[in-house]
Amino acid sequence: MSTCLFCKFVSREIPTQIVYEDEHALAFRDINPQAPTHILVIPRMHLENLAAMQPDHEGLIGHLLWVCAEIARQEGIEADGYRVVLNTNRAAGQSVYHLHFHLLGGRSLGWPPG
Ligand code: 5GP
Ligand code: ZN
Repeated sequence: MSTCLFCKFVSREIPTQIVYEDEHALAFRDINPQAPTHILVIPRMHLENLAAMQPDHEGLIGHLLWVCAEIARQEGIEADGYRVVLNTNRAAGQSVYHLHFHLLGGRSLGWPPG
């Protein structure tokens, strides 16, 4: 999508700090980190959020979660623990409408979330 910020990261129109990429996924560091490790994992294809998910996206979403787990291993936060967050629509605080998992770790994370 031509107006979407994260699509511009995928197309490299705007540079960002990429930590992982493959055929279907891209991962980069959040510009406003909420934890020592705060990485966003996105599909290369534009999908607004989880509410836009269709049954044929099951494999893709599963793959993105695998990427989160793989990056957590690489970042060394697996043993202590980490959190994966997917904000959907306004009340959850979604601000960028290209689906993204937040991978957060490197500190103790409170529960329940705010
Ligand atoms: P949301 O609020 O939609 O769940 O998460 C959007 C995330 O994108 C936020 O954590 C925000 O800091 C991050 N973000 C917004 N603009 C940029 C940007 O230009 N570069 C990077 N790397 N992250 C961004
Ligand atoms: Zn997009």
